[in-house]
Amino acid sequence: MERKLVSIQRIDHLEPIAGADNILKARVMGWDVVVRKGEFTPGDACVFFEIDSLLPEGKEWAEFLRPRSFRVKTARLRGVLSQGLALPTSILPGEVPVQGTDVRDVLGVVKFEPPLPDAGGVAGPFPGQVPRTDEIRLQSALGVLDEIRGHDFFVTTKLDGTSTTFFRPLEGDLVACSRNWALKPGAGPVWAMAAKYALETVLPPGFAVQGELCGPGIQKNRLGLTAPDLFIFSVHDTRTGRFLGHADFIAFCAEHGLRTVPVEHVVTGEAARTFDHGLEHYLQLAQGLYPGTKNRKEGIVVRPLVERPSPTLGGSRLSFKIINNDFLLKDED
Ligand code: ATP
Ligand code: MN
Ligand code: MN
Repeated sequence: MERKLVSIQRIDHLEPIAGADNILKARVMGWDVVVRKGEFTPGDACVFFEIDSLLPEGKEWAEFLRPRSFRVKTARLRGVLSQGLALPTSILPGEVPVQGTDVRDVLGVVKFEPPLPDAGGVAGPFPGQVPRTDEIRLQSALGVLDEIRGHDFFVTTKLDGTSTTFFRPLEGDLVACSRNWALKPGAGPVWAMAAKYALETVLPPGFAVQGELCGPGIQKNRLGLTAPDLFIFSVHDTRTGRFLGHADFIAFCAEHGLRTVPVEHVVTGEAARTFDHGLEHYLQLAQGLYPGTKNRKEGIVVRPLVERPSPTLGGSRLSFKIINNDFLLKDED
């Protein structure tokens, strides 16, 4: 599911901020966001922009973000964490749609995407048989907490490289992709990984592996690698249209000589039944460093051991991310 970057939401709660006359702290879904005083009362509808919204140039309501290149980022205002942006629904043309409606297109907002370093050129569209890599932010989908409660689950470290997908069709040659495109065979760091792991022959036909390509020159190389490497987080079987569950995923990668993203926790049985699935607890788990480095980790990704559809996520698989607030605040994202 394409996550809702900009949507109609409700101001659930408002409270003053000590020492601040013109701003208030608001609660929208699971987010704390600073708003202008007088713009909202509790229960009001608002237009909520998630972090990484890139606002359009030339709209009056977006001008205040010009100094920050129109990108919505995590900020700390008067000591209060502010994540996202809540604006009055009066910025919308016409009638106010119902809560939950995605209004990114009417407002001309796009998601900020960091540029991929020298990917080597586009060969064509991303293969339709394989789901794109995308993770919803927990704070925007609190319903997933009820969906994972009681189930065995696992937690992986979110790596901060670049998303890659390798797909071996039932017939035909390997397809190597960046987040959104199939890439021209040959040059570039993505195809270099295909060669390193001999994916052309190693991948069984019909399978796709998806992983984070990390290394020198990619984002900030927070793992401190000396050479690029690939860390798999999903294996997809296009014949069944399903992702492998945790055990099969681990076994598949071991069998084919692939590395996985770090698995931080596998929580089963009684521990899973009594686990604290609260937002605060997850925010704690998202903190910390990449092992062996002094670099803050970007966060964590949580999934049930066995793939299950998520009603909250519109029927796509249950899986969500929690970004480390220390990482966001350090302006590292
Ligand atoms: P950007 O890199 O554009 O800022 P992002 O990393 O915030 O994007 P999201 O869609 O927010 O992208 O998060 C999902 C992405 O996280 C996936 O596309 C994948 O590339 C990456 N990722 C890194 N580590 C993991 C992991 N352990 N499990 C799943 N996805 C991961
Ligand atoms: Mn990323
Ligand atoms: Mn991001």
